[in-house]
Amino acid sequence: MIKGIEILQSPDYKAKLTQCIHCGLCLQACPTYAVFGTEMDAPRGRIALMRAASEGRIGLEEFTNSFTTHINLCLACRSCETACPSGVKYGILVDGAQAAISLNRKIGVIERFVRWLGLRQMMPNLGLLKLMARAMWLYEITGVQRIIRALNILPKPLQAMEAILPPIEPKYRDYRAPAPALGEKRGEVAFFIGCIQEAFLAQVNEATIRVLQRNGYQVHFPLGQTCCGAAQIHQGEHALARELARKNIDAFLARDYVAVISNAGGCGATLKDELVHLFHDDPVYFEKAKHFAAKVKDISEFLAANLRVPPTGEVKARVTYSDSCHLRHVQKVVKQPRDLMKSIPGLQLVELKLPDRCCGSAGVYNIVQADTADAILDAKMQDIASTGADWIIASNIGCHMQLIAGARKAKLKMPVYHVVQVLDMSYQAMEK
Ligand code: SF4
Ligand code: SF4
Repeated sequence: MIKGIEILQSPDYKAKLTQCIHCGLCLQACPTYAVFGTEMDAPRGRIALMRAASEGRIGLEEFTNSFTTHINLCLACRSCETACPSGVKYGILVDGAQAAISLNRKIGVIERFVRWLGLRQMMPNLGLLKLMARAMWLYEITGVQRIIRALNILPKPLQAMEAILPPIEPKYRDYRAPAPALGEKRGEVAFFIGCIQEAFLAQVNEATIRVLQRNGYQVHFPLGQTCCGAAQIHQGEHALARELARKNIDAFLARDYVAVISNAGGCGATLKDELVHLFHDDPVYFEKAKHFAAKVKDISEFLAANLRVPPTGEVKARVTYSDSCHLRHVQKVVKQPRDLMKSIPGLQLVELKLPDRCCGSAGVYNIVQADTADAILDAKMQDIASTGADWIIASNIGCHMQLIAGARKAKLKMPVYHVVQVLDMSYQAMEK
């Protein structure tokens, strides 16, 4: 018997599969269908594959070849969920398929080591990640990066990892003390620091904290928190993801905060949506995960509802906004970042033709499926270039890094900022 087949044969999974009515309305929303134009690289075809595997119509050979190939090419961007009139929970289906694949795959020593290092040792260990970020900062400022890029000598996976390195500013806050509210205190919020976000783009976290303080919130940083587990879930490492999730849930529920703030669309979607499903068979943590999920708010969502200080400082720039798939399709936070940007004097927002199309980042997709991710990114950069914007605005760490790489690749001199950074710029301009 194929290992993991019980995941695809559970009554709940099967019921979710039968929700698909094969209408095909999701096809045009799918970035991999746009690249390949093949049914098996579209949501409807992938669901058909999952159904065939679940019903035992695909044997072991197909399960480890065709099935794996097409499921692994899915970005899990969940754009198909927004397009689907039948309410198919595609995210849950693809996560189950990934978990089954992960149990079956025979992986080599090198891949096993990379997964152990990345998913188990690095991402849950912020100290190690910061150490790595500092080493990468040295690599950038000493000019070694320029030489390596000019020589083009790195093997493909390393090259893909190197390409998304943002310019690093390794200045890290001491998170042991909360950041006080400015002016009259309105409440206490907890901040989800993230892993890659904090190590490689700590300036986004700093801007988030300043903006929350300015709006009257004391910002706490529960020290027991860790990586959200998104990459682990999407790589089929559910046991490890549950381990991380328990730590986060316990750390953030230890005190009754007004909200748990995340500034990364992907992490927020995991904390709000995916953890609840992850604990569907654990009665204790299922209830805790639901309680926790109700507290998690994306920074744009929270500020749009709780802005006390209007951003009246001028920020003169023409910008375009690239939605984070998980912020848009999972958290359904679409209008709030746009409203916040439109409220800043001098800031002109120009919409993309396809603002909801994935940029190709998708966790570690841009490393493990580098060629397809490149094709998706190239299309995104063409759309961005056609806006004539000065800056690109993002709302998720993965997209942020991917778009920096995309701008460099497309030779566009466009810096990338998070929504909260432009808000912070406006507040800073008020003080001048
Ligand atoms: S999650 Fe994204 S890439 Fe995967 S099938 Fe749906 S739209 Fe396509
Ligand atoms: S839109 Fe929904 S119901 Fe229609 S084919 Fe896609 S997943 Fe199935």
